[in-house]
Amino acid sequence: MKKSYQLLLVILTVISACQTTNRTRKENTTKLQYVRQATVLLEVNSKKILIDPVLSDKGAQDPIPFSNEKRIPMNDLPILKDRIIEQADAVLITHYHPDHFDADAEKLLPKDILIFCQPFDVEKLKSKGFTNLQSIEQVVNWSEISIKRYEAHHHEGATGAMPFGESSSFSLTFKKDTIFITGDAVLDGLLKNALKSEKPTCIIANTGECTFSKQNPVLKPGKHMTLTKEELLKIAIENKKAILIAIHMDAINHCGLTKEELCLFLKEQEKSIQNKILIPNEGEVLQL
Ligand SMILES: [Zn+2]
Repeated sequence: MKKSYQLLLVILTVISACQTTNRTRKENTTKLQYVRQATVLLEVNSKKILIDPVLSDKGAQDPIPFSNEKRIPMNDLPILKDRIIEQADAVLITHYHPDHFDADAEKLLPKDILIFCQPFDVEKLKSKGFTNLQSIEQVVNWSEISIKRYEAHHHEGATGAMPFGESSSFSLTFKKDTIFITGDAVLDGLLKNALKSEKPTCIIANTGECTFSKQNPVLKPGKHMTLTKEELLKIAIENKKAILIAIHMDAINHCGLTKEELCLFLKEQEKSIQNKILIPNEGEVLQL
């Protein structure tokens, strides 16, 4: 990330103080539009990558089990579905959970669109008719962008066994910028080491403090499955070069942390930390 742009981003953040507005600069091609939930349109080297598409209408899907009964997604898309899809040169799916790749995305995305995914999800995507899959074991290069995969733990002690399955983090490096996408992960040794190795300039952080509240055979109630606000804080402190973009809130029923609560929490922190963690609204464009 060029220092001047980083500075611009920081200044705009101070001004907005959790209230957000569209920010665009045409001359730089690395930018991000936050769509909803974990869904992001990331533009790198003039290519748009649609990350973790969740395209269902508000309330169209059953709730995630072992939590409350609120239907999901709990909020609307800020952009027409067709408009999201037609912009995408490729799709990146961090893991095949319904809050990262949902029924409408399965139905509406062109079957020949290029999809980057973790190896564990290839067969399921093939079974849904997708034909242009690029499984990432470690790294692939596409349009001068290096895309690396890191194993991630969706919760403490995760083994990758079903029904939870595997989860991955990804990094995208183009020139001097490295954008790291946590996927659904907790801040354990895997994630810390991946961040240490990548030294990202930007971290797209799936937070929301998601938990199961009811007894179930999968995971102890109360154990979180995505980053907590305290973990975000640690990541911001430990990754000095990086701007964090906090997403994965307000759309899915088992996520306890809202954008509003995270914003209040950040207001209690030092200004330098507040300026490093952005909380985009749905539809907002950020220049990186
Ligand atoms: Zn998730």
